[in-house]
Parts: sequence; structure tokens; C-alpha cells
Amino acid sequence: MREFDYDLFVIGAGSGGVRASRISAAHGAKVAVAEEYRVGGTCVIRGCVPKKMLVYGSHFAEDLEDARNYGWTLGKETFDWPRLRDNVLADVDRLNKAYTTTLESNNVESFLERATIAGPHDIKLASGKTVTAKNILIATGAWPSMPDIPGIEHAVSSNEMFHLDSVPKRLLVYGGGYIANEFAGIFNGLGSCVTLANRSERLLRGYDEQIVERLMQISISKGIDIRLNCQLERIEESEDGTLTAFDTRGRPPIEADVILVATGRKPNTDGLGLENAGVGLDQKGAVKVNDLSQTNIENIYAVGDVTDRVQLTPVAIREGQAVADHLFGGESRIIDYDMIPSAVFSQPPIGAVGLTEGEAREKFGNVKVYSSDFRSMKNIFSERAERSLYKMICHPVTQQVLGLHMISPDAPEILQAAAVAVKAGLTKQAFDDTVALHPSMAEELVLLK
Ligand code: NDP
Repeated sequence: MREFDYDLFVIGAGSGGVRASRISAAHGAKVAVAEEYRVGGTCVIRGCVPKKMLVYGSHFAEDLEDARNYGWTLGKETFDWPRLRDNVLADVDRLNKAYTTTLESNNVESFLERATIAGPHDIKLASGKTVTAKNILIATGAWPSMPDIPGIEHAVSSNEMFHLDSVPKRLLVYGGGYIANEFAGIFNGLGSCVTLANRSERLLRGYDEQIVERLMQISISKGIDIRLNCQLERIEESEDGTLTAFDTRGRPPIEADVILVATGRKPNTDGLGLENAGVGLDQKGAVKVNDLSQTNIENIYAVGDVTDRVQLTPVAIREGQAVADHLFGGESRIIDYDMIPSAVFSQPPIGAVGLTEGEAREKFGNVKVYSSDFRSMKNIFSERAERSLYKMICHPVTQQVLGLHMISPDAPEILQAAAVAVKAGLTKQAFDDTVALHPSMAEELVLLK
């Protein structure tokens, strides 16, 4: 029988790769992981975590305004971007070290260099060293996908937004999904003049239309200029550094100091050597896997964004855990992708689980929709027209909750708890039977009409 250097070699130390590595090692496997950038992956290094810190930082603009109405006398507030940016980056360093320590303390060997696949059991490292492994896990994540238009080199992706020298006076955000809405909210709060342009007439595809409509109303009332059906044709840079974006319909161009392109993320499979092992990809370049995250090559697995199933960190973590348990823990588990809660950290944020009203109507016909459209208590003193909206979509016969959709301060916090009830298959009656916790925003969930 052939001897291998490792039982498992993981390519990519992001959320899925780190979880698979440490659990496999804890099960007794000899494990190595290669990472070409920084241990932690997108979520920790240039995604969810630093983004959420920026959301907190940005929201102080409104909190400080509201404080006056709550009786506080404040001096002239000033905002120091380098301080926020550097504090966020320092926290990224802290997490990077924590992840590195976790790998070390679990006896996972780390190679901080690029690794490519040279054969079904062979891995080639950038240093020239080659190693062998009984099993290989591809956990290389995804990368911003930039549209192929002239001048795109003048635009940045979300990766660079964490490192800006200053807050841009004018920011154009191109895209209408998660990243676009989150960064539009952050930089609007920090004082940029923000334009958000999306190619279609629909923002946040996949989220409930009424909830997205509410976000649009609030975003516009906060000063974000939203342009729909606006497909960029080219970007030009003038001598003073101003960037000008032209759309395909010849409407007045949009001038900006920074253009953030957030038009989706594509699986990181280019140049990985997958063809050397015969690993199959789909049309988008994602690694094709079965229910056990196994590719068409028996000993090669893939988890997380590189498989383009659900591009969310907690899903990648589950997939990584399942691969480790399957290979070395004697437990083969199929991940349940139904009722995955998700959030958009816009301002205010959105939380959602299950079917939207549109999807539920298509599937079940005459569904029951309950809602609450309210002004949160904390916002009463603010002069903003910011109303929250909760929607519950129920099965027409059984009254089982099929979907729950919320836009309000703290919606993701509330939704995570409520998602347990939805996932458990509870009915509207179960929510009604629960006594309200007063006064809270969450109580609206048990008072829906
Ligand atoms: P999204 O898939 O959320 O949105 C992509 C947007 O770009 C859509 O509005 C789409 O328009 C538009 N678009 C797509 N292709 C093109 C193109 N070729 N030219 C012009 N516009 C285009 O992508 P994001 O980049 O915002 O985020 C990537 C992924 O990262 C998300 O899918 C999500 O899984 C993850 N993420 C999750 C977060 C969270 O959980 N809070 C936060 C940030 C990212 P249209 O819909 O009109 O076709």
C-alpha cells in the first residue's frame, strides 16, 4: 500500500479549511494546510468581521445625532478614519494569530505559501517542495468577480475598501447585492456622497421584495442615490484623479473618487492544477461535489465558496466539519441546506429565513402573510422616517411558518433566535402562544397581524 506524507492536505485556511483541518487532526489524522495569503480566509481577513466593525463605526454618526434628543450635550464630533481603519486591521491581526494558534495547538502543519494540485495525491508548493496526501480538501474560497469593461482597473473591490487612505468624498458602488448595500451604508454614515448603481431594477435578489423596497426607501431618505437599470459601459480617470462612470444607456455620467465594484464573487479555481487530478468543475468554474462534499475524484473533497453552493461562512464551517467527521470520525453526515438564516448588514439591517412571499406564492398558492410595520421605540426621538417591517409567510392550510423576513435595527440578532422556531417547523399559533417581551422590537414577532 502506498505511504503518504499526510492523511489530509487542505488547500486554503479560511473558515471551511481551518475547521476541517483542526477537526481531522483532533480525530487523529496527520494534517497539513497551505495558505497563500493569511490564515483566517475572507470572512476574517477581508469580509464579515472587519465589515461588521465598519458598520458599527459608521452607525455612530446616527447614534451621536440621536444622543442629543436623549438629553446629551456633545461637543463638535469629528471622525478619524485612519483610527477606525487601523483598529479594525489590528483586530484582523489578532484573529489571524488566533486562527494560526488554533492550527498549531491542534498539531496541524501550516505552509504559508501557494499550493497546487499535481495529481490525485500530489501537491506542489510554491517553494518547489512536493508532498503527498491520502486525501485532499480544496477550500480556496472565492474572489471578487470584476466585469470586463474598459477602465475597470480604476475600480476597487471590497478587498481594498478596508485599506483606503481616506473616506472618499464621492463613492460609486456598482452592484446591488450584499456587499454593495453594506458598503453603501457604511460610507454614507461616514460622510461620503454615495451613489449605488445596479444593472437591473432589483436590489438584493433572493430577499423579500417588500423588505428590499423598504431598505431602498430608507437608504434614499439617508441620502444614498440609487440608480437602477444602470449597467456601466466604461470608466475613465481624469488628471485630477476623478473617476467618471458611463452607463450603456448614455445617461449623465457619474463622477466619483472611488468606485467599488461588488458584482458577485467567483470560485477560486484558476491555476489550482485541478486538471492534473481530473477534478470536475461546473460552468461557473466551481468545484462540483456530491452530498458529502466529495468531487468526482474519490479522495478529493471541496468545501465553502469554491463549490458555490451557499456562499456563507457558517455553511463552509459545517461543510468542513462534515468532511473531517466523514473521513476520520466515522460519521457521514449530509448537510441540511434548508432554512439557512441570512442577513444583510445594511443600515438598517435585514434578517431572513425561509421562503420570500413571492417564492411561497409560487410554491403553495394562496399563502397567509402576517406583518408588522412599526417605528422602533429608540427611533421615536430621531427625526428620521425609518420604519421597521417584519413579515411572516405561512402555509395556507397548516399555518406552518415558511419564511420570516425583517428589516429593523438588530434584525439579524432577533432573526437568529426566531430561525430556530422556523427551522423546527413551528406554526404561527406557536408564535401567538408565546407571551410578548415588552417593550422590545422582537415582541412584534408574536403580535403579527
Ligand atoms: P451578490 O451576488 O450579493 O450581488 C451581485 C450583484 O451584482 C447583483 O446586484 C447583480 O445584479 C450584480 N451583478 C452580477 N454580475 C454582474 C455583472 N457582470 N455586471 C454588473 N452587475 C452584475 O454579490 P456580492 O458581490 O454583493 O457578494 C458576494 C457574495 O458574498 C454573496 O453572494 C454572499 O454570499 C457573500 N456575502 C455575504 C454577506 C452576508 O452574509 N451579510 C456579506 C457580503 C458578502 P442583478 O441581481 O441585478 O443581476
